[in-house]
Amino acid sequence: SIVYLDGQWLPADKAKVSVFDRGFLFGDSVYEVVVVYNRQPFRLEQHLSRLSRSLEETGIPNPLGLHEWRFLIERLIDQNEGDHQSIYIQVTRGVTESRTHNYPTNITPTVFAVSKPISSKSTDTRLNPSCSAILLEDIRWSRGDIKSTSLLGSVLLKKVVYESGKDEGILHRDGFITEGTASNIFIVSQGAIVTPELSEWILTGITRDFIFELANRYNVPIESRPVSVVELTQADEVWLTSSTAELRAITELDDKPVGNGNIGPMWQRMAELYQRHKAELFSS
Ligand code: PLP
Repeated sequence: SIVYLDGQWLPADKAKVSVFDRGFLFGDSVYEVVVVYNRQPFRLEQHLSRLSRSLEETGIPNPLGLHEWRFLIERLIDQNEGDHQSIYIQVTRGVTESRTHNYPTNITPTVFAVSKPISSKSTDTRLNPSCSAILLEDIRWSRGDIKSTSLLGSVLLKKVVYESGKDEGILHRDGFITEGTASNIFIVSQGAIVTPELSEWILTGITRDFIFELANRYNVPIESRPVSVVELTQADEVWLTSSTAELRAITELDDKPVGNGNIGPMWQRMAELYQRHKAELFSS
């Protein structure tokens, strides 16, 4: 694949960064993942504004303007194969002369972007709708609202998930649900969709926002508020959302069925709306 690195377009194996890059040394960097359907980026504006917020919160100057970001992503899609792609963008604080926690303010950020083709199957949740999860204590840092590449906590948690043979870990802190290791979590309780309210512990998922938009548009009751572990285990439905997974139903939690163990009616409804509105975007 052809990748973008600091103004250059290169084959992936020719793209190299310094060992003194702060992204490498400290995880001093932020990222975004944008999904492309039929060669069009989905919700790009929202991803770019979240990227800009992550940069602001970490004090890394945004290296590109909005039009430059859009242009970069268009070119990346053009130069890579696949009607459906997953784009990864990373901006690090840049390279310093030696390893030092403190950083000078005048360094140039490193910008990296790569795309990989994804199969149409993974883009249609209806074809692969249900998954399993385990509950895990949230051991990550307290700025999960920043989409940072400092992901050691998530990496360690995901390893536990893989070893359990399940699909995702639902994280909790002080008895309340935060999010998944790489997703936001929703439940259906008493006929309403509920998701943990935004805080410094969780990421403002672009897909999470999309679910709110759809629910509000079609008058489906939805609220964001604290969700306890107890409430989660008693919920009628549990879902996860992310750009790459879209909307998936979790039908098994800690080896027990969620609700009656089948995919629920609210999921069916929202997944249908999700796919319909995604399709509308392509035909426009
Ligand atoms: N929370 C975490 C920790 C994530 O890593 C992700 C995405 O990978 C999400 C939530 C979902 O965010 P989005 O819907 O923007 O992909």
